[in-house]
Amino acid sequence: MLKCEYIIVGGGIQGLSTAFHLAANKRGGEDICLFEKEFIGYGDSGRNLGRFRVHFGAEENLKFALKAIDYLVNLHKLLGYNTLVARTGYLWLIYDEEEYKVMKRHLPLFEKYKIPLIEYSPDETYKRFSYLRRQKDLIASFLGPQDGTFHPDAIVFGFWKRLLNMNVKIYEWSEVKEIIVRDGNVSGVRLVDGREFNAKTVVLAVGKDLKYFSEKMNLGLSIEPVRKEVMVTEPFKYHIKELVIDSKFHTDFSQTFKGEIIGSAVVGEEVKGLVKRENTFKWLRSMAYILRNVLKGADKIRIMRIWSGFYDMTPDRSHIMGRKRDWPHGLYVIGGFSGHGFMLGPYAGKLLAEYILTGEEHELMKPFTPERFEKKKIIYETFVIG
Ligand SMILES: Cc1cc2nc3c(=O)[nH]c(=O)nc-3n(C[C@H](O)[C@H](O)[C@H](O)COP(=O)(O)OP(=O)(O)OC[C@H]3O[C@@H](n4cnc5c(N)ncnc54)[C@H](O)[C@@H]3O)c2cc1C
Repeated sequence: MLKCEYIIVGGGIQGLSTAFHLAANKRGGEDICLFEKEFIGYGDSGRNLGRFRVHFGAEENLKFALKAIDYLVNLHKLLGYNTLVARTGYLWLIYDEEEYKVMKRHLPLFEKYKIPLIEYSPDETYKRFSYLRRQKDLIASFLGPQDGTFHPDAIVFGFWKRLLNMNVKIYEWSEVKEIIVRDGNVSGVRLVDGREFNAKTVVLAVGKDLKYFSEKMNLGLSIEPVRKEVMVTEPFKYHIKELVIDSKFHTDFSQTFKGEIIGSAVVGEEVKGLVKRENTFKWLRSMAYILRNVLKGADKIRIMRIWSGFYDMTPDRSHIMGRKRDWPHGLYVIGGFSGHGFMLGPYAGKLLAEYILTGEEHELMKPFTPERFEKKKIIYETFVIG
């Protein structure tokens, strides 16, 4: 049996960040092994829209995001890579009276943390954001100017390079089949190809596949993968700074610095569960129709590529990090980010690594314990995009 001290399962942002912060705190990563069943960044960390925000509906998430975004914005110093972070804003388009009331109800929370959310009338909206096609039923728009964009690939690549420099052992194309438990303690992992690796600590950072491990090991976590389809167009002149979230067309889209429109939309009944990453012609056709309706000139742009990813939804649409006391000793999870996990990932991995090494839970991490569902300390998050 091959030996490690710490095993991380999953090479997405959560696994990479946890491994990095373990290695950084211990001043070396020789005893850390990271297993990825495909290649680094293969999962949703390589399939998302690359946007960040601090506006969340639940105070626990908002407080976490404030710290996490600060960490994200400064990450280039840690990684030595340009992460292409910029505060380009989120623009929420509201057509429904109920949704309008929800936005207004949250304003005092945002004011408490000094994060502006600026309201515009329909006329102001279409004047200021002249790339939008006018809709008769728009009630208002809200702009979060401090929200923004980052480049997920640059961040994944930056962490990966740092792990190699710190001698963390990275095993790609190495799928973990099961966690080996002896006498109530984690003792290692067994791969699909039969190889076994020893370790006293195992972190599951497997994105949507946490559902598989939870069911297999009886961890009592409720994770529902929801498949999302995404598209990117050919590039053209950069003029859309904001991420636009349109509640009538159930779409969100933005423009990359290269000039491509990148976006997603909810079309009909969504596919749920541990199913294949697939795309549908129905979605592509609907997305093209939606884009023509919301964005001026979209009828002249060609869609270049489509792909799919998953939101790993929890019942309260908030992430899970840490461990339950009745789990095998040495087992930790980080997941269930419900569609907003990349932006939180670098900071979440830091807090989890510190918890593993010291046994001390950071105040900001405490609400996200996997025990919260049994303890009925649910986080009521309503701001989920897509
Ligand atoms: C369409 C879309 C848009 C999004 N937009 C944004 C956004 O704008 N901003 C934002 O912050 N977030 C966004 N997200 C969410 C974000 O991408 C995820 O929350 C985040 O990437 C999750 O990171 P992760 O490390 O938990 O999971 P992943 O990145 O999925 O990594 C998990 C890894 O574990 C591997 N794995 C699984 N099982 C095993 C096993 N048995 N053995 C070994 N390896 C295994 C997988 O191959 C995968 O690479 C979006 C998601 C989607 C789908």
